[in-house]
Amino acid sequence: MAAKVSAFIGIGANLGDARVQVEQALAALARLPQSRLTAQSRLFRTAPVDAGGDDFINAVARIETELPAPALLEQLQALELAAGRERPFRNAPRTLDLDLLLYGDQVIDTPALTVPHPRLAQRAFALIPLLQIDPFISIPGHGAAHQFVPRVADQAITKL
Ligand code: ATP
Ligand code: CA
Ligand code: CA
Repeated sequence: MAAKVSAFIGIGANLGDARVQVEQALAALARLPQSRLTAQSRLFRTAPVDAGGDDFINAVARIETELPAPALLEQLQALELAAGRERPFRNAPRTLDLDLLLYGDQVIDTPALTVPHPRLAQRAFALIPLLQIDPFISIPGHGAAHQFVPRVADQAITKL
């Protein structure tokens, strides 16, 4: 049996019924193979950063998984596709975006996958829900996640 790893997934949607998309994504994450959903943040509403369109609904989920990180990313991309995700241009509005924020304490740098997610510490919509699940979480290579909160204080984020 493969070792279990604690992974954090950032969920975002701003097309269609974004709230329903995020809730369905949480349910889908709970059904991932070789994985268990062990925590979920509240849902948050955030203004788009470097992107057009409506406000986003965001959340973060924690899973315990035996999937290797590349296989987990494939599963996340399959869920995005199933939700109708298209990529017409960079930062386009999306029905569903699933980012692998953290995969245990691993640092991964391949063309397809960078973990920790390189923009995690700069984004209130990822950082704040992550800290809601685990206020003491560390970002490998960067230290305690909570130290970055003041730097995202100018980004509007509301708990639903
Ligand atoms: P951002 O990465 O700034 O949040 P985005 O989520 O809109 O932007 P996408 O179009 O969803 O970007 O993803 C582009 C590519 O990023 C994917 O094809 C995937 O291979 C790659 N990628 C690299 N690291 C990660 C990660 N940690 N989680 C998800 N995708 C990643
Ligand atoms: Ca993203
Ligand atoms: Ca993404």
